[in-house]
Amino acid sequence: METRIIKGNIISAPEFGKLEITEKGYLIAVDGKIKGTFQKLPDEFSDCTIEDYGDALVMQSFADMHLHAPQYPMLGMGMDMPLLDWLNTYTFPTESCFKDNKFVRKAYHRLAYELAAKGTTRVCMFSSIHREATLILMEELENAGITGYVGKVNMDRNGGKDYQETTEESISETVKWLEACNFEHIKPMITPRFTPACTDELMQELGRIAKEKDLPIQSHLSENTGELALVKELHPDCVQYWETYAKYGLWNDKTLMAHCVWSDARERKAIKDAGVWAVHCASSNENLVSGYAPVRVMLNEGLNVVLGSDIAGGDHLSMFKNITAAIRASKARRIMDDWKTDFLTVEEAFYLGTSAAAPFFGEKPGFTPGNSLHAIVVEDETLPMVRPLSVHERFERCVYRREHGAILAVYSEGRKIFGK
Ligand SMILES: [Zn+2]
Repeated sequence: METRIIKGNIISAPEFGKLEITEKGYLIAVDGKIKGTFQKLPDEFSDCTIEDYGDALVMQSFADMHLHAPQYPMLGMGMDMPLLDWLNTYTFPTESCFKDNKFVRKAYHRLAYELAAKGTTRVCMFSSIHREATLILMEELENAGITGYVGKVNMDRNGGKDYQETTEESISETVKWLEACNFEHIKPMITPRFTPACTDELMQELGRIAKEKDLPIQSHLSENTGELALVKELHPDCVQYWETYAKYGLWNDKTLMAHCVWSDARERKAIKDAGVWAVHCASSNENLVSGYAPVRVMLNEGLNVVLGSDIAGGDHLSMFKNITAAIRASKARRIMDDWKTDFLTVEEAFYLGTSAAAPFFGEKPGFTPGNSLHAIVVEDETLPMVRPLSVHERFERCVYRREHGAILAVYSEGRKIFGK
């Protein structure tokens, strides 16, 4: 039995908009599972070693529910085009480089390390169309201590001549990839890129495989108006974009749909009724001038909303930055909505970047007993202090502003995966 006791100011988000703070408390995990948060060390643990972080903040680590690993090398570049042009001009040529396994190993090793160092311990990630590169990505994430899902991307149309599979290839490579997946913490996920990149035949087969193997699904939905028009052209039989997934069995409570910027009331109802997860990627939506997703309305209507960095449409991996981007986007949305919708508070946005994803992984929000230990330790000592701040105030400032290197330690599924 392995016991881990972390001492510090423990902060978690057990409910949307609510923080639970235990000042100078103890967060205890046994065999990787949280036992509880305690103000006083329980007697039964009095002989155990304590990892004492003094006055530092101990928070939940992050879940990045939508990002593209092969776009990591183009992070911070090419933000001058709308989605469809951006994909053809920058993204597909970059992703096509991931057939060179030496390059792949180097890039993904670095990506996995950076995720761990930034406190992201759970991911749902797109790879490229390449089977071997996808397995390398999974292995690098596993080795870095990250948990979650990765998908080999499927695309058999509209990718250009260098970055596209035939339908048969896409299916057979997916089957071979699934057979080769054998990682403890990184699992496969069915990943049709998006409707414009997948023929009906491919979508149908992916839906069949997802059902047969009981696999989760990830894709994109209603990100940009040009994309909506293209989908309409490709599927005149479907009233709305979401139906192009639903008709092939790719629409259920294990489906993640990135963006949903332009999802209207009817589409949002379809998302809610199916239990589909909307992944809000505020930085990306702003960078590619896609729009501002109606996140507050989605939350009020009871949709599952989680956050994604969506690199490299998004320009940073740090989920702290993606949380504040979501707050700012909600404020822009408030202005657009004639001040009728509320913006996200810091506590609410933190919940979306941490706890909101817990049920997707079969867990409960916050540091609930029984959950796997996913936590970060953050110090703010070097920031100016004009007066003594409460832990709540320090939390807020940490979300917006940390010094470089402020993350002292990261725990993922009970293991310490990063530490100074
Ligand atoms: Zn994306």
